[in-house]
Order: sequence, then C-alpha cells, then structure tokens
Amino acid sequence: MAKIIDGKAISAQIRAEISEDVIAFEREHGFAPSLTVIIVGEDPASQVYVRNKEKACIQVGIRSDIIRLPAETEEAQLLSVIEKLNNDPDVNGILVQLPLPKHINEKNVICKIDPKKDVDAFGYENTGRIMAGDYDFLPCTPAGVMELLHRSGIDVCGKDCVVIGRSNIVGKPMAMLLMHDNGTVTVCHSKTADLASHTRRADILVSSVGKPDFITADMIKEGAVIIDVGINRLENGKLTGDVDFEGCFEKASAVTPVPGGVGPMTVTMLLKNTLTAAKKQN
Ligand code: NAP
Repeated sequence: MAKIIDGKAISAQIRAEISEDVIAFEREHGFAPSLTVIIVGEDPASQVYVRNKEKACIQVGIRSDIIRLPAETEEAQLLSVIEKLNNDPDVNGILVQLPLPKHINEKNVICKIDPKKDVDAFGYENTGRIMAGDYDFLPCTPAGVMELLHRSGIDVCGKDCVVIGRSNIVGKPMAMLLMHDNGTVTVCHSKTADLASHTRRADILVSSVGKPDFITADMIKEGAVIIDVGINRLENGKLTGDVDFEGCFEKASAVTPVPGGVGPMTVTMLLKNTLTAAKKQN
C-alpha cells in the first residue's frame, strides 16, 4: 500500500519557512519582496490561478500587484508594460499569466521579462541556465515535484525515472532536474512506442499528460513512486489527475493525490522564487 505524499502539508511547511524569511528580509531592507502578475483577457481558469497567487503572496507577506489588461491588448503594449516593470526597482518578480490571447506571441512576451525578475523561469535565459545546471530560478511545477521527493525522503540517485510529457514548462525541465539529481531519465510523449514498456521500468514515474486515468496499475512497477502532475476537470466538476489513484495505490510505494499533491507546490515555489529574486536584487 502506498504512502500518500501530502502536497498540502509539505506546501504549508515551506510557506511557513518562506514567511519567516520574508520577515527577516523586510527587517533588513525595510520593505517586503514584491510580485507583479499580468493577466490579459478574461479566461476564467486564469482568473482563478491569479487570485490564488495573490492570496498565497498575502499569506507569506509578499507584496502582490495584479495588472489586468483587456483581451484586445496589442503585443507592443504588453511589452511596454513589461519594460516598465523591468525598470521598476520596487518590483522584484514579474509573471505573465499564460495562455495569452492568440494574437500575442508568447515567446516574445516571456523573453521580454528581465531574467532576474523571471520568477516563472520560462524565459530562454533561465531555461538555458537550467540546462547548464547553473540557475537562480526553477520552473515552479518541476521544482515543486523535486521538493516533494526530497521532503518525503525519496532519493533519486541511480533510480530509473520516467517522465511522460515534454512541454517546456513541465516535462523538459522535470527531466533535467531528475537528471541533475542523478536519476537515469527517460522522457516519453505522444509518439513513444509501447509506452507501458517504459513506465513499467520506472522507479519514479512522473505523469504530465493531462488525461484522466491515463496511468493504470498494470503500467507501473511494484513499489514505484508515482507523481501525478496532471490536472483534469471531469464532467461532474471533480478535479482528477492522470493516474488511476485507487488502482495504483496498492502497488506503488508512494503516490501524490490530485488535488492536494503537486498543485499546491507550484504556487509555493513561485513564492520561493519571488523571495530569491528580491534577495538577488538587493
Ligand atoms: P502539454 O503542453 O499539453 O503537454 C502534454 C504532454 O503529454 C505532451 O508532451 C504530449 O506529447 C504528451 N502526451 C499527450 N498524449 C500522450 C500519450 N497518449 N502518450 C504519451 N504522451 C502523451 O501540457 P503541460 O502544460 O505540460 O501540462 C500537462 C498536465 O499537467 C496538464 O494536465 C496540466 O493541467 C497539468 N499541469 C499541472 C500543474 C500543477 O501545478 N499541478 C502545472 C502545470 C501543468 P507531445 O509532445 O508528443 O504532444
């Protein structure tokens, strides 16, 4: 029977640590770290994510500002807002909520953010630095997964790690971080032949696909650690991950639930990155 990796509890513990650090930072510098989030348009899911980020900032004492721009905003206007924030010493972290409206080039926007303020670590300078293993910021979701593993006493060194998904924001950096931790990493995707032959070898399996019940018990190894990054909204409104939790629970040694696993860690790592940005800039 698996141990449940409680992302909520681990996240609360890290937020308490960040809170103490923020107090110490404020005592030393006379101001708290600050994060500015830009949201373009009215996407309901994005609105919820942005509100959650704001709440989390307030919880740990980070100053939070939200800039709301209409969906018709031109790319040039958005870039000029970012330019102003880049030059504002009062702003330590900048995040542009994705996805952006179709007429705006996402790459131009994320690469416009000053790498020292790029707390999502999606810009190409920070991406390259992760590749080189010389970084200040890590993308929040893969960083959150590594914290879950470390704080649950799961050693990656020498383990067969299989990551399903190769997006720039989850799969690729996830694979890199597991490799930095001396895991032997396989990355699978939609063109992978015989996916189960890979997943059955995994000591640590990370699924970031976005399909409910995608990972079933017959696809995992006895005693595997299963990290479920997927977030799927079912027709009945319930949130679920990629993993058939009930089925895999008996066979795995540890598993993250959805909700309450990786999700809470993502915002927590954003808080950590904002604090790091403020420290580096001061
Ligand atoms: P994405 O860009 O859509 O990537 C999905 C990946 O899954 C792609 O690499 C795709 O392969 C692969 N895939 C799709 N079907 C597959 C199949 N049948 N077999 C093997 N691989 C398959 O999504 P993402 O942004 O990485 O996010 C992935 C999931 O994580 C989503 O559910 C998202 O909501 C969730 N997420 C959660 C958090 C969190 O905080 N917990 C944060 C971010 C994302 P190809 O590259 O070949 O298309």
